[in-house]
Amino acid sequence: MSRVSRPSPPARASGHEVSELRALAERVPELAEAVSLQVELVTAERRIRSRLATPWIDAPDADLKARLAAGRPLVRFEDLAFDWPECRLLFRQVTDILRRHDAVDAADVDRLHEIGRDPRLPDVARQWFLRAPGIPAAEHPAADAAAPEMLDDVLGWALKPVLTRAADVLQQRLSLADWGAATCPVCGGAPEFGYITAAAGRLLACGRCHARWPFDQMACPFCPNRDRTRLTTFATQDGWYRVAACQVCERYLKMLDGRHATRPLLMPVDTIATLPLDAAAMQKGFR
Ligand SMILES: [Zn+2]
Ligand SMILES: [Zn+2]
Repeated sequence: MSRVSRPSPPARASGHEVSELRALAERVPELAEAVSLQVELVTAERRIRSRLATPWIDAPDADLKARLAAGRPLVRFEDLAFDWPECRLLFRQVTDILRRHDAVDAADVDRLHEIGRDPRLPDVARQWFLRAPGIPAAEHPAADAAAPEMLDDVLGWALKPVLTRAADVLQQRLSLADWGAATCPVCGGAPEFGYITAAAGRLLACGRCHARWPFDQMACPFCPNRDRTRLTTFATQDGWYRVAACQVCERYLKMLDGRHATRPLLMPVDTIATLPLDAAAMQKGFR
């Protein structure tokens, strides 16, 4: 797949997400610190995203459809037009933001800054990209046991502008309706959040590129369990959020319930708004 870059359209405002986050902190003061961290991360990420050219995946639709039909994600690492100076800048900014919020310790900050400056950063990023549940395990690079604790999180933020832009373009080009798998059809990442549609269907949303695709409401997105007696759900009192938990693999997925919520899914907001649900799910023995 080769690409040409097109001029960038005006950046989508992150203002809506930031104002929703601030309103959340006022409604739920216990979340104020998590909101403040998230606002800084979202603002830094969107600033870089607004400067990127729109990625243009120059492959015929037939080739892309063949990849989907073969169960492979649409994007390979080498298809992505990373602007490495911008990625390094965001990598550094995210590290500093996490440090200011005490989310990473001083020793790891120094090591993260080293990795961010290292000429091998693209290799480290490629390894992170390949270690995804939608990419066959045989192709996964060995995990680096000596890597600093927050490395994957920092990489996730630093590569997000490119991944989300690629996912936006691809989702406009072709339908992901027949994908059927629980991992992301665009990048192979794991689902991080779900959305229940007005017709009670379910969309999964990728934690890496934010692509969305339909997935069976009666199946666990983390293991092959399709026995509905071994799947449980519980909801918040206002009905906005629902947790789908699996008694086989003991994992759970949080979802925004579009039958009750008055706005669409906003991943950076909904992941923070549901932190109390994580605590509730863990208390019930899920992870
Ligand atoms: Zn993805
Ligand atoms: Zn399961």
